[in-house]
Amino acid sequence: MKYQTKRQRVRIGILLASFALFPVTIFYFSPYLIVWGAFQGVVAGSAIAFGLQLVSAIFLRRACCGWICPAGGFQELEAQAVEKPSKPGKRDMVKWVIWVPWIASIAAGFIVAGGVSHVDPLFHIDGGISVSSPGAMVVYLIIVALFFIPNLFLGRRAMCHCICWMAPFMIIGEKLGAALHAPQLHVAADPSKCISCGLCEKACPMSLPVSELLKGGAITHSECIQCAACCDTCRKDALKLEFGPIARRNVIAQPASPKASAPLELASFEPRGNLPSTPRFVDRVV
Ligand code: SF4
Ligand code: SF4
Repeated sequence: MKYQTKRQRVRIGILLASFALFPVTIFYFSPYLIVWGAFQGVVAGSAIAFGLQLVSAIFLRRACCGWICPAGGFQELEAQAVEKPSKPGKRDMVKWVIWVPWIASIAAGFIVAGGVSHVDPLFHIDGGISVSSPGAMVVYLIIVALFFIPNLFLGRRAMCHCICWMAPFMIIGEKLGAALHAPQLHVAADPSKCISCGLCEKACPMSLPVSELLKGGAITHSECIQCAACCDTCRKDALKLEFGPIARRNVIAQPASPKASAPLELASFEPRGNLPSTPRFVDRVV
């Protein structure tokens, strides 16, 4: 994967800077400290970070994953050498299987502790720096390996799809924003310009079927991280990163046709919140 536009070079630069700072910040994303804190009635630093991710996703959807996540940084670095696409789909559900009992354990912790006693962003982070001991270094290396090694076999950013415990917070925030009709960061698409060359899919770090998804008028897939790599690769200007209400095209099935492979017809263009109850193409592919 080559990053030829200024926007993509800036994005990768931010991601790599974030990865460089990961030894300092890793415990602010800790799935363990939040549980430990909960059983003592303490809101730990990672609880604050996850809350911020959820709130930001109401407007920015999963832009944190695409632009500032340290784990995203080294996974995209890895993708420079291992370009194998991952296979989104059932694997995406694995993270929810991990997430739900984990959230239940946090809730149980606060119940056992009798509620929240105080907020401590530095809970068990000595001096505010995560890796400040050999033991912390071991934890750091295990987490990096956890996100790095499986991708060698499962494809680029596969661990974002499968095990990231932060992604569900952002997906929930994104859905909440959609339900509130909030303006959101998204990739808007003009299917009439698309020539189905597939360059956008090749560029997508999340290996999404972009040339199919764009037929809905916007990329609304919950695994889209708003990185704009597809927009910056498309030579036909069919994709644009925008902030605002997400407009989607309705796609209706063509009348019975002798050719089952006939393309779907794009019918109308409506803002979200005023959608008809008829099935939409985007509903079928997301
Ligand atoms: S790169 Fe552009 S023209 Fe090619 S498939 Fe993607 S959207 Fe269509
Ligand atoms: S669809 Fe586009 S914006 Fe979304 S993850 Fe793929 S390349 Fe990034």
